[in-house]
Amino acid sequence: MELKGTKIMVVGLARTGVAVTRFLAERGAEVTVTDMREERDLAEALAELADLEINYELGRHVPQSFLMADLIVVSPGVPMDIKPLEMARAQGRRVVSEVELASWFIDAPMVAITGTNGKTTTTTLTGTIFKACGFDTFVGGNIGNPLIELAASGERVERVVVELSSFQLEGVEKFRPNVAVLLNLTEDHLDRYANFQEYIDAKLRIFENQTAEDFAVLNIDDPLVAECAARIKARIFPMSRLKELDEGIFYRDGFITFAHSGKVFRFATADFKLRGVHNLDNIMASLAATLLLRAEGDCAYQAVKSFKGLPHRMEFVATHNGVAWYEDSKGTNVGSVVKSLESFESGITLIAGGKDKGGSYAPLAPLVRERVGHLILIGEAKARMNEALGDLTETHLAESLEEAVAIASKVTTPGHVVLFSPACSSFDMFKNYEERAERFKTLVHGLAAKGDA
Ligand code: ADP
Repeated sequence: MELKGTKIMVVGLARTGVAVTRFLAERGAEVTVTDMREERDLAEALAELADLEINYELGRHVPQSFLMADLIVVSPGVPMDIKPLEMARAQGRRVVSEVELASWFIDAPMVAITGTNGKTTTTTLTGTIFKACGFDTFVGGNIGNPLIELAASGERVERVVVELSSFQLEGVEKFRPNVAVLLNLTEDHLDRYANFQEYIDAKLRIFENQTAEDFAVLNIDDPLVAECAARIKARIFPMSRLKELDEGIFYRDGFITFAHSGKVFRFATADFKLRGVHNLDNIMASLAATLLLRAEGDCAYQAVKSFKGLPHRMEFVATHNGVAWYEDSKGTNVGSVVKSLESFESGITLIAGGKDKGGSYAPLAPLVRERVGHLILIGEAKARMNEALGDLTETHLAESLEEAVAIASKVTTPGHVVLFSPACSSFDMFKNYEERAERFKTLVHGLAAKGDA
């Protein structure tokens, strides 16, 4: 697309919006940037763009400007259904997300990863494998660097790995990854979607422009994912922990087997540092994506063996008096907490709660009944969670994370674990899940200092 002289509206001025604006303005587009935040709250972003000629509409959206734009680029944090965008679409304006725009300027083979849980782990591991196998690789999207930064750098890389949220996928038009991965589909973000089906439809857009030359890596153990196969044009490359496959990747008795076009690789999983069944899924997805794009089996294996995982996902914090404390602040929905609970034996003290996202907590019930000895609830969601789970085990309501940690240290007996896996987002009490994680870790380390643990 010719950018010179094109009227483009950029919606949202956080890190991605700044990068998009610079990219477009430096290529001669006439850029208008709009953000609902006021100028004084955007000082840093504005300073970064000070050398460029840009039209700003801050503290409000001006619908007329949306209607005059040849193209509207929406930042990942901005809902696609805000009024001015709906109006613009209704009038035939072109509305795209940042990944869509970036993809027009990138031609390296690309892996795109989505799902409700495991995206960041899988994206990072996929990038790690490519790099270990000698490919110059860009890793980004929803994590770390926005894809537009690669387009802007003009750098030619050999592989691109992007994590995509359902929000970014809503603004996809021609985006076509060589390998698209769908890890799982469980309820999340029902505060942003009218219903679960709408959320699924957004996720499935990752496959929309693929052809029979591309691959769709599907976790067929997840019935909702398996059902999607019929709607996909790419070659399906299934993954499973339950079924042996002639073509695909599967786990059986301590080995992962990758089988494709007559080639077979087997990987022993005993030495992997990533634990938990859900991480087997993430590892299989990463191996499938990289081997399908010509990474070599041996170096892929070495890369997986040395991968330790990411912070805030079932991260071990400390042991005090025989009790092991785990921080899983990134466990922000029910599906991920199910996996975290499955990774431990019974007698778990679970600290959960935070900002309620409107979904049901019922899927946690069987595991809470079977494995949770004490349930400690915090935050806005506390009452709803107590209603759904409170009768199933010994339940405590706490006013703060401090109080929750104090209760946990009192009630948990040696040999058991305390797991902080909220099933909710953090925004009722914290800036983000990282801040919540740090607070928890500080409190846990403080227990040792006080000597009461
Ligand atoms: P995302 O980027 O999709 O949020 P992460 O890799 O950051 O995923 O993991 C988020 C949470 O989900 C963590 O609490 C982790 O324990 C859990 N999790 C990771 N992988 C999976 C998976 N494949 N299935 C279910 N839960 C998972």
